[in-house]
Parts: sequence; C-alpha cells; structure tokens
Amino acid sequence: MTPVIEVNHLVHNFGDTPALRGIDFSVQKGEIFALLGPNGAGKTTTIRLLNGLFTPTGGQIRLLGLDPTTQGDQVRQQTGVLTETPALYERLTAWQNIEFFGTLAGMPTPAWRKRGQELLVFFELEKRANERVAAYSKGMKQRLALARALLHDPPVLFLDEPTSGLDPEAAGQVHDLIESIRTEQGRTVVLCTHNLVEAQRLCDRVAILQRGLVLASGSIGDLRKGFDSGQWVMVKLLGTSSAGLRDQIMALPGVKQAKVETRPEGVISCKIQVQSNEDTADLADYLVRNGYRLVALQPQDISLEDIYFKLQDQAKGEQNEVA
Ligand code: ATP
Repeated sequence: MTPVIEVNHLVHNFGDTPALRGIDFSVQKGEIFALLGPNGAGKTTTIRLLNGLFTPTGGQIRLLGLDPTTQGDQVRQQTGVLTETPALYERLTAWQNIEFFGTLAGMPTPAWRKRGQELLVFFELEKRANERVAAYSKGMKQRLALARALLHDPPVLFLDEPTSGLDPEAAGQVHDLIESIRTEQGRTVVLCTHNLVEAQRLCDRVAILQRGLVLASGSIGDLRKGFDSGQWVMVKLLGTSSAGLRDQIMALPGVKQAKVETRPEGVISCKIQVQSNEDTADLADYLVRNGYRLVALQPQDISLEDIYFKLQDQAKGEQNEVA
C-alpha cells in the first residue's frame, strides 16, 4: 500500500544551522504517527516542510502523492494543522471563528455552516458557540482549534503538542477525540509531543529524533525488540531498612540492573531487570527469606519512556566521542 506520507533523506538548513540532517520515515493511511524528540530536534521544521511552508535543502517528500515544495496549495487542501498555541481569534465567538476560517479556506457558506455545526456538536461546544473565545477555558480553546483544523475535512491532520498546558481531564478529553478522529473518521494523524505517555497511549508508530536525525522509528513493539533482552519487574516491599539492598539484589544470579528507593510512607520501591521468569521467582524467595514483606511484584513492559531516554543517552554518548 502506498504510504500517505513518504519522507526520503530530508535535509533542511536555516542558514548555517542544520535543522534536519537526512531523515527518512513513512506514515500509512489511518495511522497515528508521533514525531518525538527534545527541543530543537526538528519536529516543527518537519511539519512545516510537509505542509510546503519551507523549501527543503535536500531530499524528497510525498504527501498523498503530492510534492509540498511545488504543490503547496494542493497539499494544504489535504491537511489540517493544529499549532502549539491555538490559532484562533479570541475577540470573535467560536461561530465567528468558524465563519472566518471556513471562508478563508474558500468553502462555500452552506458548506462551512453545515460542517461547522457538526464539528461544534462533535467537540461539545455548540451550547457556547456564541461566546467569545477569550472566555473559553484552555481545553475548550484546544477543542475549537481542533474543529478549525478539521473544518475543510482534510484526510491528514498534524497536531503539534495538542495537550500542552491542559489539565489531566482536558488532556484526556483531547486524547479521546484524537482517537475518535482516527477510528471513526479514518484520518491519518501526525503528532508532535514531549509527552511520552501520551505517545505510547495514542500512537501506532513513532520516530524518535535528535538534532535533526532519526534515532529509531517503528511501533513500540519494534523498538522494544531492538532494546534490551530481559524483563523488568516492579517490586514494593515493607522492611526495616533498604541499606545495602541494591547490592544484595545485584549479587543474585540473573539480575542485570536494579534501582532501589525508599518512599516517604516507608515502602521500599525497586525496579529490577532480570533475565527470566525463574529469576523473578528466585528474587521473590530471596526477599521473603531475608525478612522483607512483599506488597507488590509486577512484571513491567519496557515503556516508550525507557526506550526514548536510552536512545537519547546513546546518541549523546556517540556525539561526545566524536567531539
Ligand atoms: P521544540 O520541541 O522546541 O518545538 P522542534 O523539535 O520542533 O523543537 P525545530 O523548531 O524544528 O525543533 O528546530 C530545529 C532546529 O532549527 C533548531 O536548532 C532551531 O533553532 C532551528 N530553527 C527552527 N526554526 C528556525 C527559523 N525559523 N530560523 C532559524 N532557525 C530555526
């Protein structure tokens, strides 16, 4: 199947500053794909290039078969973009914003009216449609900004930090909406986020960037395979002291790594990497035999956060060696 987005060896310099140093990735129809990376990694530059707002220094982009460099207007008819700060007119009402952006997109009045009404209902804003946006909460503004990005019914949606600054409840609502935009409407979503829990929850595949390079890309399952053998186990214990516990755990056969910390409520919390289930059972026996009382013992999947920080650290180490 032809990907919706295909990026081949994309390079972009701002004067002497390299922002992208040859990145490759592709996004399939109906996927939620995340671009992850620290500040300055090149995520926003990538989104701007994909929307034809800059001309790349080198490489190739295809979005629904179009070249954003030479067919920018056609590309932007197929894409909706949610920027980091909602681009809305605060002094206008939600409905006036819909009218303004619908007209700007060249939509006939009956079309923006119908679609605007549907979107305000979908985003649960219809009862407040005639209030000025300045009076909206951040979560409501973000929902309206999503409605604005979807107004011209684009099959591809770019979301730059869609939940930054939102409280957990509003962020959760936006997550649900992003999922339904994909599942009910079959759109392709490209998401930039610093929130790795958000990316792990929402995304089918990710690309992890650093300083203009892709360090790794794929599903979280794919990235785990290239990670580390072994199993992480979370253990919570009651005991009189955790002094020397890490060294004792590290001395057990099959233990690869261990982190031990004592929580204020007196619970000793450990994250331990072992080679096999046998090692987990031996670990539990050892702790009980040595007077610790087990509160919890739970195998844990390697999280996107574990993978992200390991890759970033490895890349920094390699860059320091070169320097
Ligand atoms: P953030 O997470 O902070 O949004 P980012 O991953 O989106 O970061 P970019 O904004 O794409 O990163 O920036 C990549 C690099 O390009 C950085 O070194 C940045 O300083 C530089 N850069 C971005 N936009 C411009 C610009 N308009 N002019 C000059 N340099 C720029």
